[in-house]
Amino acid sequence: MASFHEIFGQARPIKILQSILQTQNVPNALLFTGEDGIGKRSSAMIFIQALLCQNISLNNPLNPPFLKGGDINPCDTCLPCKKIQSGNHPDFLTIAPIEGERSIKINDILAMQDMIHFEPIDAKRKVVLIAEAETMTAQAQNSLLKTLEEAPPYALLVLIAAKPGLLAPTLLSRCQKVPFSPLSLSQIESILMEKKRWSTGDARLVAAFTGGKLGEALSLEKEEARAKEEALNSLVKEENLSHYNTLFEMAKSHTANVESMEHALYYLSAYFRDILVMLMVKGDALTDSSILVFSWRKEEIMRWANKMSTEDVTRFLADIAAIQQTLSRNINKQLALETLLMQMRDKLGTTV
Ligand SMILES: [Zn+2]
Repeated sequence: MASFHEIFGQARPIKILQSILQTQNVPNALLFTGEDGIGKRSSAMIFIQALLCQNISLNNPLNPPFLKGGDINPCDTCLPCKKIQSGNHPDFLTIAPIEGERSIKINDILAMQDMIHFEPIDAKRKVVLIAEAETMTAQAQNSLLKTLEEAPPYALLVLIAAKPGLLAPTLLSRCQKVPFSPLSLSQIESILMEKKRWSTGDARLVAAFTGGKLGEALSLEKEEARAKEEALNSLVKEENLSHYNTLFEMAKSHTANVESMEHALYYLSAYFRDILVMLMVKGDALTDSSILVFSWRKEEIMRWANKMSTEDVTRFLADIAAIQQTLSRNINKQLALETLLMQMRDKLGTTV
């Protein structure tokens, strides 16, 4: 069922969309921003369906049953709603990079331009969704800018971009922004506990892995998460860090691609956060180990806490955050992780 109630933790962007639906004051272009996997695309689809829904556009939107808890949601039963859901609404078009291609080309935009100049067939609007909009080539962006400048009043372009910084400023300035933010780990945790009926431990583990990306968290099985955790835990094992060869091998295998490096860094930051918690509650006094992400690793986290000061841990957390910031650039990932692991090794004070 298409309902904004399925979108969690995004009150701010949903408020913007609701206000557009309520006033029916629809701009020519909307830009949904925010990381992947936090609900941009799903929200865009619900919004577009609501916009084209016969029961909302023809009737008073303040009329039930389309009002669920004060929000406007598509009715899901009218013909336009069904057409949107089956992907064959004549007034709705999606543009995305074709499989195997990394960018949206000018020809895709030109084809859309032609389509947009025919008046809507079924609805009173024509909507184009541009997914991964930041992959548009410079030419495609230019052409889209022209489309926007000459857009007929019934046209709405919905752009979705995880990295809006890659879009031309002239294009950005023509779009009304709908910003999505990552969910906090505790928000994800409670959603997983509620929706999947997981224990706190499992929910927290998956939340820690997916770094605020609900879509990813919901698709990850807890067995899968546990196996991943086991593999990532090798990064903090004393016996692995104390052997140079093992340390370098680990740095290599965990930096094979950006995704594995991301996971390694998320893991380390969650792990160091636990060490910090341990130091702050003074170890032994920690009776409720559920405040740790890795509560079942309490003993080994305690061993790390005994070798570090609060300042040490804070510095590690800052270093990890600094590497996370630079990941999208072309940094030497393996060297960065090696350096981090070497510093951890120094804290252990072991040599082999
Ligand atoms: Zn409908």
